[in-house]
Amino acid sequence: ALLRNADAAMYKAKDAGRNAFRFYSSEMNVATLKHLLMESGLRRGLGAREFVLHYQPLVHETGGIIGVEALIRWQNPGVGLVPPDQFIHVAEDIGLINPIGDWVLREACRQVRAWQDAGLPPLIVAVNVSPIQFRQPGFVDTVASALAASGLEARFLELELTERTVMQDAEQTLGTLSALNEMGVELAVDDFGTGYSSLAYLTRFPFDTIKIDKSFVMAMERAEGDQKIVRSTIDLAHNLGLSVVAEGIEDVKTMDRLRELGCDEGQGYYFSKPMDAEDADRWLVSSGY
Ligand code: C2E
Ligand code: MG
Ligand code: MG
Repeated sequence: ALLRNADAAMYKAKDAGRNAFRFYSSEMNVATLKHLLMESGLRRGLGAREFVLHYQPLVHETGGIIGVEALIRWQNPGVGLVPPDQFIHVAEDIGLINPIGDWVLREACRQVRAWQDAGLPPLIVAVNVSPIQFRQPGFVDTVASALAASGLEARFLELELTERTVMQDAEQTLGTLSALNEMGVELAVDDFGTGYSSLAYLTRFPFDTIKIDKSFVMAMERAEGDQKIVRSTIDLAHNLGLSVVAEGIEDVKTMDRLRELGCDEGQGYYFSKPMDAEDADRWLVSSGY
């Protein structure tokens, strides 16, 4: 019982962002139970093919559609559609993120190749990569085999990595990113501005794109400070020869402002929420793409 309770307190401390401590309290049993249920649920879900990908359009500043971002959801029987923020960190804790992430890569490549084969002009697909998956030995081979199995050309795949991921081990990161870059895969920094303040990695690593975090974009019409950050990020990206995507565009005012500031691409509810493959297919066809 002591070990179990200590474990519950440890989970709480980890949830608080690690580097913390928590005293055990009886309410924690409920949280631990939830965590355990989620663990077993995720393991079952992987075998039972309960994960699905939704797709959100990436729109060029001129209005054309460039591609889609693949976003995972868990279709948990009895619970419904579980968003990634609720289960990705658990999957990372228990090592299940590798098989889940591998599946995401293969499925996203397969789907986009199928759209290309069906006659839609070449779309790119952006896939989020967890830090653990990125550090997995053989990650480059996993990407290569997802491309080979689907027949998708490397230039149509974009991998999204957060600052947190690339700042961990510069040597290893450089090796992996260079190999992916040589393969022809596009590389993007996701959630830019929310991680580390070191900017040196932008020139050291072969990135193509910066995605400005939605927290800045969503606030920019209300808060001058956020607008300045967005403006500066766009300038920074362009000065470094990178293209820049704003995520979290919810209204026309924000989109017009971003266009004014020279932002290259956008993504957000204003264009479309993430959709399942069937709806995304209809959306892509009906938007005249
Ligand atoms: P992200 O990669 O930054 O993805 C953007 C998130 O912002 C998505 O949330 C998307 O639905 C949401 N979003 C897009 N436009 C708007 C908008 O206009 N307003 C608002 N309020 N939100 C908007 P989602 O799908 O819940 O995903 C959350 C995060 O989970 C992702 O953030 C990504 O970090 C992670 N994630 C999603 N799929 C995967 C995956 O396959 N593997 C891994 N490792 N992580 C994933
Ligand atoms: Mg992303
Ligand atoms: Mg993001």
